[in-house]
Amino acid sequence: LIEEISQGKSSEKRRKRIGVMTSGGDSQGMSAAVRAVVRMSYIRGCEPYGIYEGYEGLVQGGDLIKKMQWQDVRGWLSEGGTLIGTARCASFRERPGRLTAAKNLILAGIDALVICGGDGSLTGADIFRAEWSGLVQELISTGQLTEEQCAPYRFLTIVGLVGSIDNDMASTDATIGAYSSLTRICEAVDSIFATAYSHSRAFVVEVMGRHCGWLALMAGLSTGADFVFIPEHPPQPGWEDNMCKVLAKHRQIGKRTTIIIVAEGAIDTNLQPIKPNYIKDICSQRLNLDTRVTTLGHTQRGGVPCFFDRMLATLQGVEAVQAVLDATPDTPSPMIGINENRISRKPLMEAVRLTHSVAKAIESKDFDKAIGLRDPEFVEHLDAFRWTNAWSEDIESDFKLPPEKRLRIAIIHVGAPAGGMNAATRAAARYCINRGHTPLAVYNGFPGLCRHEAVSEADSLSHVLDWMDVEDWIIRGGSEIGTNRATPDMDLGTTAYMFQKHKFDAVMIVGGFEAFVALGQLTKARSSYPAFRIPMVCLPATISNNVPATEYSLGSDTALNVIVHYCDTIKQSASASRRRVFIVEVQGGRSGYLSVLSGLTVGALAIYSPEEGIKLKTLADDADYLRKTFAREKGEGRHGKLLIRNEMASQTYTTEVIGKMYEEESEGRYETRTSVLGHVQQGGNPSPMDRVRATRLAVRCMHFLEDCAYGVNKVDDNSTVIGVKGSAIVFTNILEAEEKEADMKNRISRNNWWAELKQLSDLLQRGTPELIAS
Ligand code: ATP
Repeated sequence: LIEEISQGKSSEKRRKRIGVMTSGGDSQGMSAAVRAVVRMSYIRGCEPYGIYEGYEGLVQGGDLIKKMQWQDVRGWLSEGGTLIGTARCASFRERPGRLTAAKNLILAGIDALVICGGDGSLTGADIFRAEWSGLVQELISTGQLTEEQCAPYRFLTIVGLVGSIDNDMASTDATIGAYSSLTRICEAVDSIFATAYSHSRAFVVEVMGRHCGWLALMAGLSTGADFVFIPEHPPQPGWEDNMCKVLAKHRQIGKRTTIIIVAEGAIDTNLQPIKPNYIKDICSQRLNLDTRVTTLGHTQRGGVPCFFDRMLATLQGVEAVQAVLDATPDTPSPMIGINENRISRKPLMEAVRLTHSVAKAIESKDFDKAIGLRDPEFVEHLDAFRWTNAWSEDIESDFKLPPEKRLRIAIIHVGAPAGGMNAATRAAARYCINRGHTPLAVYNGFPGLCRHEAVSEADSLSHVLDWMDVEDWIIRGGSEIGTNRATPDMDLGTTAYMFQKHKFDAVMIVGGFEAFVALGQLTKARSSYPAFRIPMVCLPATISNNVPATEYSLGSDTALNVIVHYCDTIKQSASASRRRVFIVEVQGGRSGYLSVLSGLTVGALAIYSPEEGIKLKTLADDADYLRKTFAREKGEGRHGKLLIRNEMASQTYTTEVIGKMYEEESEGRYETRTSVLGHVQQGGNPSPMDRVRATRLAVRCMHFLEDCAYGVNKVDDNSTVIGVKGSAIVFTNILEAEEKEADMKNRISRNNWWAELKQLSDLLQRGTPELIAS
C-alpha cells in the first residue's frame, strides 16, 4: 500500500474527518502517534482534527476541536508527553456528557476517532460507539440537531492506540511509552548502582504499576536486581525469610550492592500491600544492611521517547488511519498492537476484557490465572529473571540437573561489539550455574581459542565463568570476554582440537554476520571433524541488524537510541541557526536498517541507503526540494533539516560530497554541515530492550541446547540461529538459513522487512506530490 501511495496509484475515495485525541495518563510517544495520524490522514485524503484535553475537549467542543495542519505536528516525534493535552473527564463517564460529545463531533463533521490512551479511555470510546445511534436519535428527537445534519453520521468509527507507561494492556507486547519509561528507570537504577556499590548499600526502588508489574519486572531484569515485587506474582507468606535468604546468599558470594525493585501495586498473597519502607526495615533489621528507599515517581513519565516508542507510535498511527478507512459498521472497534515485530489489529473490547480479567484474577487471589492472562512474553521474562538474578537455595534444589545431564557449554563472541552481548553471556552463564552446567568463556573469539587463550580448567579455573564474574555485565556495553571478526575456517583443525580439548558439549556463538558465517562453517565441517557434531546456536548481535533468519539483532536498539539522541541534539543546533541542513552518516555496512529506522524516527528529510544506492537524479531532486522548502519557509521554520546517509550508500557520493553539492545548489538559502557518527553507535550502556531481549533469548538458547543434547530436537536441527520473525521467536537451521535467507556476497539478510519504511518515512516527512502542490 505504501508503495502504491508513493507512486500516486492508490486514491482513497472516502474523504473522512478523523478526530485524534490522547486520554488518561500521558506517556512518551503520544505526540509522535498524533503526528503519524495527522500526516497519514492527509496522505490518505482525509482531514485530521485534534481533540484537545482528552474527553474534556470532546464534551466542551469549541476551540478544543480544531483542524490540524501538516505543519502543526512538526518536530513532534521527539516530544515527550502529549502536546494536544490529556485530562481525566468525569462528565464523559455519564450519558449526558457523551450526548454533548456526540453533538460536538457531528457539528465538526467528524465520524471517526483515533484515541490514544489506557484501558479506561478505550473502554469509554467503545461505550461511546455502542451508544452512538441512540445518542444521534436523541439529538434529533430533542431538537438539538436535524435529521439532515445527522444523516451522514450514522456510524462512529473508533480505533484505539494504547498509550500507557505501564504496558498493562492485553493482546499487545508493548504500549506506547512503556520502553521510554523503562529507560528512565534504568537510567536511575544504573546511577543508584554506583552509590550503592561505593557504600555497600541496599536500595529499595519503587516504580509505577498499580495493577501491572511489567515495569518492575523489566527493570529488575535489565538492572540485574536481586529481588522484584509485582502484583501478578505475589510472594507466599513468610516471603521475608525467603528474601533475606536470597539477599544474604548474594552478599555471601561477594555482592556489594542490593537492589530491590517494587511495583507500586505490589501485594502479598493475602492482597496486603508490600510497601518499600517495610522492605527497607526488613533489610536493615534482619540483614543489617544500610538500606535506602528511592521512589522514582513522575520522572518515569518524563523525558523524550526512546527509539522504539517513536517507531511504535509512528507505525501504529499509520495503521490506525488505515483501520479507520477499512472500518465498516459491522466490524468491532480495533485496537492497534504489536506482537514481537508485527503491528497487529485486535478487537479492542476483547483486549480490554482480558486486561480487566487480570485485575479480577488478582482480586480473587487466582494468581496463576493472572500471570497466565499476561502475554507469554511476560511469563518468559519472569522465568528469565529467576534463572539469571536469583541464586537461591530454591533454584539450586529445584532446577539443578543430575550430574549425568550436566553440560560444558562454550560461549564465543564473534564480530564487532554490540550492546547486549555481555548481557546475553551473563544470562547464559547464570542459567548454566543454576542448572549445574559449566559455562566456559572463550576469550577473543576463534583466534583466541586457537591461540590457547580460551582455556577452561585445563590451564586455569578462572575461565569457567562464575556467578560474580558476570555480575554487572548486564549494564556493560562492548564485549567483556573479547570478540574477534575471524571465522573458524582460518584453522578448522586447531578449532576442532580445542573443542575436543576443552570438552565442549554445546556452543553459543554471539555476534553479527561473522557469527552466522562461523556457525555455517562449523556445521559444514562436521563430516571431517566429529568435535563439531554438538548442539550449536547463533544468537545474533550486531548494530547493523543484517543477520539472516532474524528481524532483530541485539545491539541494534542501543545503536538506534544513540543515533536518535544524537540527531535530536543536532536538530536543535540546526534549528537555532534556522538555515542549516545536516547530513548525518550512520553505520550499517551494506544494510540500510540503521539509516532507514533512524530516518523514520528522527524525521529525516531524506534517507540514503545502500539497498537503493544514490542516483544523481535523487540528489538533484533533493537539492531542489531543499531549496524550495527554505524559500517557502523564508527562515521561519524553527526546525533544522536532517538527512541520513548510510556509510556505504555510494562510493562516489560520499557524505562530504553530498554536503558540498547541496550547499552549492542552495542559492544562498541554507548552509550544510556533515556529521559522521562512527563508533559511538556501538553505544555505551545497552538499552533496556537489548538487555531484556539478550537475557530472554540467551535463556531460550540454553533451553535449546539442552533439548538437543537430551535428544528432544532432531539431530540435523541442532545447529541453528535464534531469531525474531514476525510475531514469533524461532530457531532456523543454519544451512537452510544460508541457502534461503542470506545474501552471502553482500553479507546481509535477504529479508529486508523494513525496506518499505523508507518510503513511509519520505511520505510522512514530505507528503505526496499532490499535497506538496496544494
Ligand atoms: P491510564 O492507564 O493512564 O490510567 P486510562 O485511559 O485507563 O489511562 P482513565 O482515567 O481510566 O485512564 O480514563 C481516562 C478517561 O477516559 C476518563 O477520565 C473518562 O473520561 C474516560 N473513561 C474511562 N472509563 C470510562 C467509562 N467506563 N465510560 C466512559 N468514559 C470512560
